Amino acid sequence: MDIILLPYAFIIGICFGSFGNLMAYRLHNNISIVKPRSSCISCGITLNFPELIPVFGWFIIRGKCKKCKIPVPFHYPLIECICGLLFTIVTYKVGLSWELPFYIAITFTLLIIALTDIKSFDVPDQLVIVGLTAGLVFFLLNPLHWVYLIYGLIIC
Ligand SMILES: [Zn+2]
Repeated sequence: MDIILLPYAFIIGICFGSFGNLMAYRLHNNISIVKPRSSCISCGITLNFPELIPVFGWFIIRGKCKKCKIPVPFHYPLIECICGLLFTIVTYKVGLSWELPFYIAITFTLLIIALTDIKSFDVPDQLVIVGLTAGLVFFLLNPLHWVYLIYGLIIC
């Protein structure tokens, strides 16, 4: 494992964490995850460059909307850091291989499922379908899994 990759994994992870915050909020409120752009949930002002920087954006605005001054919960940068750490750990454990994107996808999906479950006690079907699909594709692409499957069928 090349240690030099880990900071990149963390940076990619906090960016995904930022998108994960958006996904958890919008899926719960039945809003498209593509449009509109990120905005304050109170006054609707569109967020721009400094506020959109994962983790640092929250500190730049000092945890408050720049227009209406409503507090922005601390869990947003916290989730971004947690996602960054998870991506770093997964990259460290799996290494740079063809399996890494699947582990990252499954980790990210499980994080979003946990966020929506904590916020609303609901798990959107779209996330379950994405997680199952990623898991199934990962299973089918790994030849070792086929060996285990055939071996399991033979000994039954
Ligand atoms: Zn606002």
